[in-house]
Amino acid sequence: AAAFNKAREFKKYNSFINLTEESANKQAEESQKRYDEKKPISELDGVPVAVKDNFCTKEVATTCASKMLQNFIPTYNATVVERLKNAGAVLIGKTNLDQFAMGSGTVDSIYGPSKNIWGYQGDDNFHIAGGSSGGSSIAVASGICFGALGSDTGGSTRNPASYCGVVGFKPTYGLVSRYGLIPLVNSMDVPGILTRTVDDCVSILNAIAGFDDKDSTSLERPFKKIRLPPADKMTIKDLKIGIPVEYYNEHLSDEVYFAWNEIANLLSNNGAIVKQISMPNTEHSIVCYSILNQCEVASNMARYDGIQYGYRAEENSSTEKLYATSRSQGFNEVVRNRILTGNYFLLTRNYEKYFNKALKVRRLIANDFHKAWEEVQILLTPTTLTTAPLYKDFVQKTNRDQCALQDYCTQPANMAGVPAISVPIKLSNNGLPISLQLIGRNLSEPMLLAVAKYIE
Ligand code: GLN
Repeated sequence: AAAFNKAREFKKYNSFINLTEESANKQAEESQKRYDEKKPISELDGVPVAVKDNFCTKEVATTCASKMLQNFIPTYNATVVERLKNAGAVLIGKTNLDQFAMGSGTVDSIYGPSKNIWGYQGDDNFHIAGGSSGGSSIAVASGICFGALGSDTGGSTRNPASYCGVVGFKPTYGLVSRYGLIPLVNSMDVPGILTRTVDDCVSILNAIAGFDDKDSTSLERPFKKIRLPPADKMTIKDLKIGIPVEYYNEHLSDEVYFAWNEIANLLSNNGAIVKQISMPNTEHSIVCYSILNQCEVASNMARYDGIQYGYRAEENSSTEKLYATSRSQGFNEVVRNRILTGNYFLLTRNYEKYFNKALKVRRLIANDFHKAWEEVQILLTPTTLTTAPLYKDFVQKTNRDQCALQDYCTQPANMAGVPAISVPIKLSNNGLPISLQLIGRNLSEPMLLAVAKYIE
């Protein structure tokens, strides 16, 4: 009940698309009974969680913040939702996002933008929450719930975490099942976790990670639950930490740059070996990602034809017209643009020039990481180049330009499939959260999360 009171109190930030009060109350009652019998299922029993509205939830609308899926009620739970439920966590609602998770601001949902609680000065003067998991980030930052699920294809969990001052974690690709996550870029999508602390993030990860035979890209290996040592028992002595110089970018703000240096110094003063390294292909990530994203979008979005799936327009003159009208009315401009461009890249005459080339560049970016691991164990970078922009400035830019700036530091990790986490560090002079990112090699979650806990 407390969660719903808070959700109502914080309604103006627009973090939820849909609250599931009735079913949550039922779940909470059952959980209370288990506590009365002193038999809670797990440490998450009775804990309120929110889920981004691109994860399927049984009998609960799953809209992707798009008119296309406004009336879609799945008949099954995404694996991550099912596992949270099995751990006793209580789903309190579905959170806001950019349509189909295409964006980095949570500004173009059909339900309106999410608003950052930090620096909020009214509905005409607020900072973006970041995106596309902005709703989940605000739900956690405002204390409505213990944790929330986001998704991360190019930074969508870490970017809003950075702007909202919460922990945002992108696991190794394949460690957490994508089954029931409505796809954006299948080869990069992962479910993400948003919490206030790293320990809370570990609790959720422990509940959702591990092999799932419903996801063909799920890693077939047992997942060992992670237990982090208490912060005062941790040592980072001799840990090799890399500072990739290419993450320094002309748009990097002084405040983020200083925070980056400050934490690098803190780590080195405590015994870590901090050194600069080079990852020369970092700057190609934006263009490469954009091509691969649009190609996969073109293919993934083909299913929404208004007949099998999604919004159906009132158009009876021909099947072709019905498809076309349903799609042009159901999708926003960003989605339509990506489908068009993706199909152009995939034309036989263009395939080699764009899609295949982008795959090669993706390999180069992944190789930068492989080379880095020969020298260091973990990377420290900014998550975002600045603090959260003002909404009114942000929406002056096109979606493409927004993403080019927003995703600069986060996308390469998705290209390589490696785990990464955004950790809040401090507040800027004007009171907005500044965060940094740690990136580890595949399946290095125990170490990555421990170092994150160390610097949080
Ligand atoms: N901003 C990127 C995009 O729009 C990443 C989104 C995401 O990670 N879901 O594609």
